[in-house]
Amino acid sequence: MKITRISAYRVELPLHEGSYKWSGGKSVTVFDSTIVAVETDAGITGHGEVCPLGPFYLPAYANGVRAGIAELGPHLLGEDPTQLGKLNRTMDAALLGHPYVKSGLDMACWDILGQTTGQPVCVLLGGRYGDDVPLYRAISQEAPDAMAGRVAGYRAEGYRRFQLKVGGDPDVDIARIRAVSAVLHPGDRLVADANTGWLMHEAMRVVRAVRDVDVYIEQPCRTYDECLSVRRHTDHPFVMDENIDSLEMLLRGHADQAFDVVNLKISKLGGLTKIKQARDLCVALGVAMTLEDSWGGDIVTAAIAHVAHSTPPELLFSTTDFNSYVTVSTADGAPQRVNGRMAASTAPGLGVRPRMDVLGGPVVVVE
Ligand SMILES: [Mg+2]
Repeated sequence: MKITRISAYRVELPLHEGSYKWSGGKSVTVFDSTIVAVETDAGITGHGEVCPLGPFYLPAYANGVRAGIAELGPHLLGEDPTQLGKLNRTMDAALLGHPYVKSGLDMACWDILGQTTGQPVCVLLGGRYGDDVPLYRAISQEAPDAMAGRVAGYRAEGYRRFQLKVGGDPDVDIARIRAVSAVLHPGDRLVADANTGWLMHEAMRVVRAVRDVDVYIEQPCRTYDECLSVRRHTDHPFVMDENIDSLEMLLRGHADQAFDVVNLKISKLGGLTKIKQARDLCVALGVAMTLEDSWGGDIVTAAIAHVAHSTPPELLFSTTDFNSYVTVSTADGAPQRVNGRMAASTAPGLGVRPRMDVLGGPVVVVE
């Protein structure tokens, strides 16, 4: 089988809540997502999606996805999309870095592999564990009482895991954590994700002030070394995210005992092939994971579900249903949340059928 054409579509994804706010005053009102179609000479087409969380979260931006596909695409024409190890080596040889560019292409090729073999991607990624997987809900940064209200509302919809967007004024963040903690029930899990927003002294004040609260602390500071310093001065369960963007950083963090849970994102690592490597390493090392992506719609959510559903449940801390945050549906067949949980499709491949009327015409075509 050979790749004959690669197309990219640009889709805007507005948010049900109107906006999403996190550390340092950063916010997004409409996400700019790229959906990738990889066509083959066998008549099978696979789909992927890449949606950076704006241009200021990770070193990735939406126009960069499209420019990167135009750059990388010609190297992939004629390649076999089902030979994913070879395909990734070809991508890495043709374009250094830019894992987010490769993510949608790799995802689309896994979709092709699944359709070709008649297997859902989660089976190809290792197997399906249980009936469904637990979701967290990200709580956009607002005043403490407003965030507590959001948590109560999403709790009523079935979520039991909540990720507060903090990383602002430390005194307000302390109030946010306390206000939300007060509305939780036994068994709920609370993560305070600063998304690199605190300086070390601010992080130290926050963790000391909430020492009596059952809360995980996620990525308090900008750099790995700053986070490691905070980690060594607190007994809260600790999550690292933004700095863990490669196998090298995962191994270094594990050797340093820098985290109790690690957050792995598909496009941060470079696609399903690479998140599978990191996920399998974490399983072997006994490190629990949040498995997700930077953002996305139906296709990213489908891919996340396949990664999460193929992960041993005791090592899956949480995952995300991004398609329930946005007002536009880009594909049929994507997972739909039920009681704070979702399940990967049992159909071959990713199990999604893009809505071409929503996608419109392609903005990049390589053939
Ligand atoms: Mg995070």
